[in-house]
Amino acid sequence: MPNQCRFCDNPLKHKLVDLGVSPLANAYLNAEQTQQMEPFYPLRVYVCDHCYLVQLPVFQSSEEIFCDYAYFSSFSDSWLKHAETYVNDIIDRFGFDTHSNIIEIASNDGYLLQYFVQKGIQVLGIEPARNVAQAAQKAGIRTLEKFFGSQTADELAREGQYADLLIGNNVLAHVPDVNDFVKGMKIILAPDGIITMEFPHLMRLMAENQFDTIYHEHFSYFSFTVAEQIFEKHGLVIFDVDELSTHGGSLRIYARHAEDNSRHMGENVAALLEREAAEGFGNLEFYLTFNRKVRSTKRSILDFMIRTRNEGKTIVGYGAPAKGNTLLNYCGIRTDFISYTVDRSPHKQGFFLPGTHIPIYHPDKIKETQPDYVVILPWNLKDEIMRQMAYIRDWNGKFVTLIPEVRIYP
Ligand SMILES: [Zn+2]
Repeated sequence: MPNQCRFCDNPLKHKLVDLGVSPLANAYLNAEQTQQMEPFYPLRVYVCDHCYLVQLPVFQSSEEIFCDYAYFSSFSDSWLKHAETYVNDIIDRFGFDTHSNIIEIASNDGYLLQYFVQKGIQVLGIEPARNVAQAAQKAGIRTLEKFFGSQTADELAREGQYADLLIGNNVLAHVPDVNDFVKGMKIILAPDGIITMEFPHLMRLMAENQFDTIYHEHFSYFSFTVAEQIFEKHGLVIFDVDELSTHGGSLRIYARHAEDNSRHMGENVAALLEREAAEGFGNLEFYLTFNRKVRSTKRSILDFMIRTRNEGKTIVGYGAPAKGNTLLNYCGIRTDFISYTVDRSPHKQGFFLPGTHIPIYHPDKIKETQPDYVVILPWNLKDEIMRQMAYIRDWNGKFVTLIPEVRIYP
């Protein structure tokens, strides 16, 4: 097994957390597949004792994981709103206009680029998942169906395609070769161009016990300190950073070429580096406390499930996100505890969750069956979901979230 740090090549010797064995979190099954053998892979996260990059070894190639990816970003209202706000803010701050070229890596179904297109700004999306890339093209968003890395970047550079704004949201964690990816970004960034990237913040993952955001497709987990080192190695400087509430706590970093001195350093950069150092992100011991916390959370989740079912009450799920699959498989929660889950995406309805084989229905199923508890698996969207599903209170139904700990909402 390749057990070397993907950033610095140091051998990986220390585990951050061991989540046992689990199927790929996006490997939804049809009815026929639930009768067959299903591959499970170890879900063990390591921390490099040299650079402190937190990471998982790669078990399947990115091609296998992403070529028919079921996640369509446009099915979340709050995510669309987040994208629209970002586009307006970035234009206000940096003055992009119809002369600008905007490139987004992992552009999904074009949910973000559409807001630039509406303003007449030229865009290019790069998206490897065939079905979502095709959905984007159909919607009129110019999209290249490809993986991004230094090779794709060289091809674009040869065609004279440089980015005034290069966006990469929720992609850095999914990249098997992080050095090649960041090297590619350096290649296609225009001399005075800006990179913005969003990724979940390891500081929040650890502080808020978000172990369910760990899954095989998610190869790396970044502190700001480590992200800064990776960019620096490839001739890029992070000159500003925002802390966002998305995905349970993300960072948005702003980077430029090391050679471009036209933008001054935001105060947030030094402040966040100091906060991470104070938390312990530069000490191995700090990372090694996480496993204990996760095990204790599993016991309290099972305690809730067992108690509730013993009282004869019913539990169903809301949502079929990847993170739900990590949690349910790690805790061993199947239809014995959660009868079914529902999802707004028609691409998931009629399928079954990997490993646990919990069926996925249309949200109307909840109205028909009137369960006592609805466990919100995408807890980061709980406010939106509780608003949409407020009617469960008509029969005294209650919402539940399980991360960072079991919480019941009356
Ligand atoms: Zn390392």
